[in-house]
Amino acid sequence: MSHTIAAVSTGNQISAIGIIRLTGDDCIGIAGSVFTLSNGKPLSAAPERKLMLGTLRDKDGRVIDQCMAVCSHAPHSYTGEDTVEFHCHGSPAVLAAGLQALYCAGARPAQRGEFTKRAFLNGHLDLTQAEAVIDLIEADTADAAANAAGQVGGALGRKLEPIYKDLTDLCSHFHAVLDYPDEDIEDFGLQNYSSTLRQDAKDLNALLQTYGQGKILRSGVAVAIAGKPNVGKSSLLNALAGFDRAIVTDIPGTTRDTVEESVLLGSTRLRLIDTAGIRHTEDSVEAIGVDRSRKAIEEADLVLFVCDGSQPLTQEDLEVMDLCVEKENAIALINKSDLGAKVLPSDLPFMTVIPVCAKTGEGLTGLADTVDIMFEGASPCDGSVLTNARQFDAIRRAYEAMVSSLQALKAGVTPDAVLTDVEQAMAAIGEVTGATVREDITARIFERFCVGK
Ligand code: GDP
Repeated sequence: MSHTIAAVSTGNQISAIGIIRLTGDDCIGIAGSVFTLSNGKPLSAAPERKLMLGTLRDKDGRVIDQCMAVCSHAPHSYTGEDTVEFHCHGSPAVLAAGLQALYCAGARPAQRGEFTKRAFLNGHLDLTQAEAVIDLIEADTADAAANAAGQVGGALGRKLEPIYKDLTDLCSHFHAVLDYPDEDIEDFGLQNYSSTLRQDAKDLNALLQTYGQGKILRSGVAVAIAGKPNVGKSSLLNALAGFDRAIVTDIPGTTRDTVEESVLLGSTRLRLIDTAGIRHTEDSVEAIGVDRSRKAIEEADLVLFVCDGSQPLTQEDLEVMDLCVEKENAIALINKSDLGAKVLPSDLPFMTVIPVCAKTGEGLTGLADTVDIMFEGASPCDGSVLTNARQFDAIRRAYEAMVSSLQALKAGVTPDAVLTDVEQAMAAIGEVTGATVREDITARIFERFCVGK
């Protein structure tokens, strides 16, 4: 018995249309008790998945809205259970009254992500698909949306499925031989599985390697803005973000820690990290900031090296430059172009050097275009890349268990020892697809969702 849950699925703002959704065993009965079709028939007689006009009323029979209802019968619905949607006029007051009427009629409020959780528990989505639903809702670039849509369509699950099947075959063969010695089952030779295990480990490793691209798709390109103090790093971050996010002063060392800001530059989402100016310092708090800056540069997908073009380069500039120039993706920005040019592009050993002015915004369009070109098409957007840390961690454990099983195989240990590793790999893959995931982890995953999804 699945209790009927109800929620507004379209958020709490004025809009042309607002949708109330309910699902559960009694949902058509409950919805039918507050809604009458314009053709005089009960809602239960409405044709499957067809929008029908009618009147929504409160428990005292007062009209709430003239609206549309659509019924989807189990299992042909998102959740796999009977589902009704009311497409109302999008006033928050109308939607709240409609919801209240449904609660009075026996529905209970849906929890965050409960519709998608039911779809998962009813086998309509595997966990990779369910998790991708929230990524799709939250996607803020076309690429991130395309990738999430691919994952909702099962792209990641399809990569893991054959690996999981290989491992299941191996385990079941081993146990069949062990448990039914008198049956005519082909002898279990672990070595026969060695090339399959090797290929599966390779495939898992290839998937792990996509995580860098996945992180860019999901959270944006990590951009470290680096330079000695006072060259205009915070001003630049503010200019890019379009508002005063970092503290800007002319006292060197004002930014004592890293500051992060997410901005959309062109069609690329950037996670800008304004690093504390790198310099030798006695101040212990600032020293921690400087260490973090070095780390931010190391971990960044792109480094923007900033210098003050109105002053000749100093030893401090050169030291920061040494850290940046090593990076695969690095752009040098000669800032303060409004104050004259004591630094020329040819003075800097970078492939791309752009004179900019954080104060007026001059040169930032050129920067946006360069970044767009640099990261355009950096990731396939078909859902085949790993985008979330939980999935990455589980696949990493699966891969490690596979490597360990291959090592055990090579060392000639007994099959049951190899099987222990294989079973660990299966459990870890199952955490991603949902085949073996623990209830508390599932609960945490769906807590990320909004109510009504
Ligand atoms: P940071 O220490 O590198 O983060 O530097 P800030 O952003 O705090 O800037 C240091 C000083 O330089 C501040 O007084 C800014 O107003 C000034 N500044 C930053 N960018 C420009 C610019 O493009 N032109 C001019 N004239 N001044 C700038």
